[in-house]
Amino acid sequence: MKVALVGIGKIAIDQHVPAIANSPDWELAATVSRKGSVDGVEAFDDFAAFLSARPDVTVVSLCLPPVPRFDYAEAALLAGRHVMLEKPPGATLAEVHALQALAAAKGLTLYTTWHSRMAHAVAPAKAWLADKAILRAHITWREDVRKWHPGQDWVFEPGGMGVFDPGINALSILTEILPAPVHLTAASLEFPSNRQTPIAAKLTFSGHVTAHFDWRQTGPQTWDIEVETDQGAMALRMGGNVLEIAGQASAGENTIMGEYPALYKRMAELVATNTIEVDLAPMVHVADALTLGRRIETEAFDF
Ligand code: NAP
Repeated sequence: MKVALVGIGKIAIDQHVPAIANSPDWELAATVSRKGSVDGVEAFDDFAAFLSARPDVTVVSLCLPPVPRFDYAEAALLAGRHVMLEKPPGATLAEVHALQALAAAKGLTLYTTWHSRMAHAVAPAKAWLADKAILRAHITWREDVRKWHPGQDWVFEPGGMGVFDPGINALSILTEILPAPVHLTAASLEFPSNRQTPIAAKLTFSGHVTAHFDWRQTGPQTWDIEVETDQGAMALRMGGNVLEIAGQASAGENTIMGEYPALYKRMAELVATNTIEVDLAPMVHVADALTLGRRIETEAFDF
């Protein structure tokens, strides 16, 4: 199937282009980006021009930041194209509901991807937890924003989500592996004095589940989810790629390279069966944290 990539920036180049190039299901037939392009692939800098010039490209994968994404997704669906959305799927919950309704009305696929759910150890962790009682769980997601989002001021603009941009990856895993849902009960959010979104967050959920996200960690990065159950301890490390049971490595491998190929394989299945897959559970927790969170001002941040 032919796919167009829209928003040729960091994640498109790092993950989408190689995943599509190595997939038996997909051909990268066009790009749409104001500045970016991919060698050997027809490049457009205007989405409407792409839609009218290339009716043969029936699938569009949107790698833009969340705020500009809705207009592109809506235009693509109105033009009869199936749509795949980077995480987080939108800037607001309501706009994703609107896209879901439009996709349903048009009989098209809409896929809200959560790449971290495709990490090697997430499915084994979910299976291990399925028959256990969760006593407590804690997420530690600490990374260096300068390393992963160099110069990307949009993450600190309204709708950019701040530290929830990586934190929502942890929440996408949490909402996938827990045998029963939890809900947010409290949050404290640290906002740099010169920015619109938080650089760190502490979250408390029902069921003794807590999370600590921080974007100021230099050196080794930490992406851990530790769960205590009635039948022992489990930990997911390296962003869901390594599973430990009772402190011993049990499944997975320490590489993220399988996540985007798995997303494109899933998109191929969804298009083949004309299915919509929309899950907003991780984003509901972020919206709730921004609704309920106590604001703490912290020192100014510049890249
Ligand atoms: P990015 O490099 O800053 O942006 C991607 C591209 O989108 C830009 O190169 C730009 O291309 C286009 N764009 C930016 N703002 C735009 C606007 N207002 N209107 C139209 N086009 C615009 O961001 P990214 O890191 O790739 O992240 C994009 C999405 O992927 C985010 O939702 C992020 O959460 C997700 N993601 C990122 C990473 C990561 O490691 N960075 C990992 C996983 C997922 P042109 O200037 O050429 O138009």
